[in-house]
Amino acid sequence: MLKSLLLFALFISFSSMASVKIEEELYVIGQNPEVIKDLAQSGSVEIDHVTSEGFEVYGPRGLSEHLTKRSLPFFDMKSVNKSALADYPSHAEITKKLKAAEAKNPKIMKLFSIGKSVTGKDLWVMKISDNVNTEEVEPEFKYISSMHGDEITGRELTVKLIEEMAQSYGSNQEITELVDNTEIYIMPSMNPDGSERKQRANANGYDLNRNFPDISNRNGNTVDGRQIENQHVMKFQASRQFSLSANFHGGTIVVNYPWDSTYDRHPLDAFIKELSIGYAELNPEMRSSREFAGGITNGADWYVVKGGMQDWSSFFYNDLQVTVELSHAKWPRYDDIPSFYQSNRDSMIYFMKQIHRGAGFKFNRADVAGTVAIKQTSPVIKDLGSFAFNTSEFFKVMPEGEYTLNITEKNKASKVIQVSVDKDKIFSNGNYTIID
Ligand SMILES: [Zn+2]
Repeated sequence: MLKSLLLFALFISFSSMASVKIEEELYVIGQNPEVIKDLAQSGSVEIDHVTSEGFEVYGPRGLSEHLTKRSLPFFDMKSVNKSALADYPSHAEITKKLKAAEAKNPKIMKLFSIGKSVTGKDLWVMKISDNVNTEEVEPEFKYISSMHGDEITGRELTVKLIEEMAQSYGSNQEITELVDNTEIYIMPSMNPDGSERKQRANANGYDLNRNFPDISNRNGNTVDGRQIENQHVMKFQASRQFSLSANFHGGTIVVNYPWDSTYDRHPLDAFIKELSIGYAELNPEMRSSREFAGGITNGADWYVVKGGMQDWSSFFYNDLQVTVELSHAKWPRYDDIPSFYQSNRDSMIYFMKQIHRGAGFKFNRADVAGTVAIKQTSPVIKDLGSFAFNTSEFFKVMPEGEYTLNITEKNKASKVIQVSVDKDKIFSNGNYTIID
């Protein structure tokens, strides 16, 4: 056993330490914690979606041979994925749908590309807000889906959400209020090349959700050497002030919350759990999950992920992010998409609204940058950390309570403001303190 593992380690030694090149996508049937630990520690493969039934393992050529030698029962996921592909729209058809939604309601929809994938496909983002062409003092929310190309459900659901918002703005009060008070950014497909090939990785063979800066290196938040799709998302993130977001996956049904990469608890652990439960409760299958109590899980408690988007955005930015797994089948029958939309639609709207549970400030001057240290003073005293801001505007999603914000502009004396968060006062839009 040891010998075969060593041979395997030698065989894949060409793969870089930072990222595993994915050439085989396998599903191991049955769960054995020792085997999982063993494989994970080899550093040469990625483990994902561990359940009582089995787990996924991704790695270089030679992986299936290795599993066979170890007598582990498995099947090739690529062969399964490819069987039920019919009917799904192509990237060009998704582009058309997004352009149609924008054309239907250009006052609230603005479609733009944040860059191109490895093979040159546009990475589309829809901005949805009233006065969509103006930068307003409103909290910024984001959804990103399908960075794993074969996890397609979220791409379809986010496009449907965009279409519904374009359609019912002005007639549906909840959507209208949300759009009027929020800057929403939705990216249905972060990995269009992967989706076209029905594979997890991008066109270069890399898992984009292991390719973000890991939070263990505080100084490592740079785009150098990362996949082009990650670079575009990183630059996009740095150009905005997102304060709440989610990314969509498939393979099981659960809301996964930070951290993924460490067993430490997030400073807002109870609050993130509350938001996650809020999403899960509105989804019947998630709520009644037998695999995950209440339909939610702490990331690392489930399985450790390094270099994922969720931890990166939550750690390096003031952008609390959860990971939502939407469907057991990564690539369900296309006919089933409407029912997945039905079971997630209220959750998706609920989660966007939660961004209004927070407070912030806005400078009367343009292009102010600095940092803000946040301390909760009631009902508990707690340090929430220090966050950078760069667009004269800052907003943080936080639990109910009183806070002091210690704001420091570059080369200036700091200013302290008091703010309070009351979850019954969302949409009041009075939760920005204006600073001269
Ligand atoms: Zn995924």
